[in-house]
Amino acid sequence: MVRLASGKTRSLELFERAKKILPGGVNSPVRAFEPYPFFVEKASGSKICSVDGASYIDYCMAYGPLIFGHSSEEVLDAVKEQLTKGTLYGTPTEKEVEFAELISKSIPSVEMLRLVNSGTEATMHAIRVARGFTGRKKIVKFEGCFHGSHDYVLVKAGSGAITFGAPTSLGIPEETGRNTIVLPYNDIRALEEIVEHEGYDIAALIVEPVIGNTGLILPEEGYLNKMRKITSDHGILLIFDEIITGFRLALGGAQEYYDIKPDMTTLGKILGGGFPIAAFGGRREIMQYVSPLGKVYQAGTFSGNPISVAAGYVTLQILDKNWNKIYPKLEKAGEEVKKALMDSVSDHHIEAQVNSIASMFQIFFAPHPVTDYTKAKLSDIRMFHSYFQKLLRCGIFVPPSQFETCFLSTAHTEEDLENTINAFDNALCNISKVG
Ligand SMILES: *Cc1c(COP(=O)(O)O)cnc(C)c1O
Repeated sequence: MVRLASGKTRSLELFERAKKILPGGVNSPVRAFEPYPFFVEKASGSKICSVDGASYIDYCMAYGPLIFGHSSEEVLDAVKEQLTKGTLYGTPTEKEVEFAELISKSIPSVEMLRLVNSGTEATMHAIRVARGFTGRKKIVKFEGCFHGSHDYVLVKAGSGAITFGAPTSLGIPEETGRNTIVLPYNDIRALEEIVEHEGYDIAALIVEPVIGNTGLILPEEGYLNKMRKITSDHGILLIFDEIITGFRLALGGAQEYYDIKPDMTTLGKILGGGFPIAAFGGRREIMQYVSPLGKVYQAGTFSGNPISVAAGYVTLQILDKNWNKIYPKLEKAGEEVKKALMDSVSDHHIEAQVNSIASMFQIFFAPHPVTDYTKAKLSDIRMFHSYFQKLLRCGIFVPPSQFETCFLSTAHTEEDLENTINAFDNALCNISKVG
């Protein structure tokens, strides 16, 4: 770690400057970790390098998008090629159509879709379309599910919102909040009760089929199936927010993994191969409500921009061609990490839970299995912070919050995994001595 003449690292100097101009020194809350975040010089494959000369094996992976790791050559080549032809046209391109067709082929419940720029936009518009289509006002969401940072869904939203002690944001009109019903996840009784009373006022139920924004929380067996049945029975649209799980759990996302067909789906993160793009889509009869075909308005200057489309299209092409190699390989690496973490937890007698699925995993410093938001919140945050710092010192970067998820990519090598597993064991061994 290089220190400057001032005795400070360059990251610290930059963070002090950043704090004067950017709230909290960052452009998205979870990036602001204690004592200060490292600033990035460059990243490639599984490694991210700081301006202080440190290199880390990265399991944050920009919070999910980078399924091929940093600076994937194929993605960079596709973007370079597009750059020579222009960056933004404000008029349609052939690639947009091909890209949309490939999304629909990968996720067949998405019969029609629209491209937008961020996951936040995708869920906001999906909910508006659901309201337009059903003529109903209310929506249901679940504690700990994050669907972006707009008013409809920023209630008990997990992720940065829990980390910074504001599970429900200021600035959201009560009237808006009243139309958002928040239920505990993995609790089918709670859903049945609400639907019994208000079922015919509810336009949509939006859910992360696997929660990746409160650490990692998996659906209990049969939970999503029951959710599908209850919503169908009451004409409530089921929106799967697959912004993390899409192209992550399987090519066809959680809906393929669990074999459930939602009415609408939101996609983002991996969809853009590291560039900003997202999408919302679903059944044709629903999506026909979107302007100019229908009367639900939605628009965007940068929507479907050729750079992000080029990056996203090549990403999906690679996944589409190689899914039968890529997903089993990621799953195997995920299994390996999970097993190693569980062994360390048991060897060092730590009260901790390891949740994992496919290429996602997280450890909770909690005494009981973590199956919902309330149980996740019982985790020992101080212990997590200590674990995080110890890993960082060993050259491993995991997301800096207990309420985020670790991601594997195809760029993580066997050697990376070995080093990581040793670092995990080391961090957990020291924690047991302190704690
Ligand atoms: C990241 C995320 C979003 C928000 O996407 P942005 O592109 O950050 O606006 C929405 N839903 C889920 C499940 C996410 O993980």
